[in-house]
Amino acid sequence: MSATIFYREAPQKVSEQNRGAPVACDALIVGAGFAGSVIARELAERGGMRVALIEMRAHIGGNAYDCLDETGVLIHTYGPHIYHTASERVHEWLTRFTAWRAYEHKVLANVHGQLLPVPFSLSSIEAAFAPDRARQLTDLLKARYGLGARVPIIELRKAADPLLHELADYVYENIFLQYTMKQWGSTPEQIDPLITARVPVLVDYDDRYFQDPWQGMPCDGYTALFEKMLDHPNITVHLGYEAREIIAFEETGTSDAPFTAVRLAGQPFEGLVIYTGALDELAEQRFGLLPYRTLDLVYRHYDRNPVQAAATINFTVSEAYTRTTEFTWLTAQDIALSTVLEEYSLAYDGSPAQTAYYPIVGKENQERYERYRMLFTRLSGFHPLGRLAEYRYYNMDQIVLRALELADDLLR
Ligand SMILES: Cc1cc2nc3c(=O)[nH]c(=O)nc-3n(C[C@H](O)[C@H](O)[C@H](O)COP(=O)(O)OP(=O)(O)OC[C@H]3O[C@@H](n4cnc5c(N)ncnc54)[C@H](O)[C@@H]3O)c2cc1C
Repeated sequence: MSATIFYREAPQKVSEQNRGAPVACDALIVGAGFAGSVIARELAERGGMRVALIEMRAHIGGNAYDCLDETGVLIHTYGPHIYHTASERVHEWLTRFTAWRAYEHKVLANVHGQLLPVPFSLSSIEAAFAPDRARQLTDLLKARYGLGARVPIIELRKAADPLLHELADYVYENIFLQYTMKQWGSTPEQIDPLITARVPVLVDYDDRYFQDPWQGMPCDGYTALFEKMLDHPNITVHLGYEAREIIAFEETGTSDAPFTAVRLAGQPFEGLVIYTGALDELAEQRFGLLPYRTLDLVYRHYDRNPVQAAATINFTVSEAYTRTTEFTWLTAQDIALSTVLEEYSLAYDGSPAQTAYYPIVGKENQERYERYRMLFTRLSGFHPLGRLAEYRYYNMDQIVLRALELADDLLR
């Protein structure tokens, strides 16, 4: 059995026995989230490589990590994670490591105390408007676009009928605008009109948040899934290691692509390095910080369960937090207590106490990221992978697929 040691019950304790430096390996992987763990398994199993995986946190699982909180409720420590995918390959692959509990996510928007299903659908219209007006609107939408259509609000605005304009304005102001301002810290003028235009109204009564064919939650939680994924004799996991303690680069190239060789614990290293951390950190922010939004996560404990009417409530016109999530809806944990998470969105300042969550998409930031990426391009064995290293948002299934495809390339 591998030397993998896990800390599900006491994640803050990194035992000394697991702090041993990564020994000789064929592939060094930085980060034990989905990106790092999936490729670790593939390189170890399919490639027969000796894989050392280092992780700076005291636990595996990256942002999908879950554990019992102090009241015994199973929580997602870095925010709620709901699994959904349209990729058969991803689903089959993950199903090797977990059974799934059927779960379809539902979200309600709290609009001045009224709870409306989101994405905004025919059910939402019936909840938001008086019966006559709701019937007019739903009949109009069905006749014009057909049941099952997704109509961006910009389309509704283009329509001749003033009722549809009214609906578009209602959705924009009550569901989209303030929520988006809170999430991105932006003013209405800064909100990209192209994104606004894409906000859909669903001509449907299907009020599931995701429509993917495979949806669910891992029966024993995400951490257990990662434990199984990393349980392979060719994999060793080293918790409590920050990449820069171990990896260094020889810098003898050109100014835009200076790194020419990798050193591991001071020794030249010819193997693969799969890096799933932030590239700006690895290059000591020589071009400045890559901007992100972070979250202040506040957990509230209750002596009853359930506390709210759905797994997630989006506060689209009130409150400083963007949304609340009650974990027992996701996990179906049989417990009389409950924990509800409030998410406050704010700018990431790069301090160790914060976690970089959402990259801020934009031309300038993308150009800065490309400058960072260029630094590493002469290192043929160095591969940035994942939401931080690629500076882009991935859902879990998307990063699993990306990691499997990188493994395909490397093992070809
Ligand atoms: C609040 C929130 C909610 C989300 N909800 C969903 C959802 O419902 N459904 C869904 O499909 N997706 C969701 N996602 C997306 C999901 O979290 C990502 O797809 C996934 O985390 C990407 O995996 P990753 O391995 O790239 O990154 P991560 O999970 O962040 O893993 C990277 C790991 O690398 C480690 N690391 C970083 N730098 C270093 C370093 N220098 N040295 C050592 N270790 C390092 C980190 O500690 C971390 O453990 C959500 C994301 C957020 C932010």
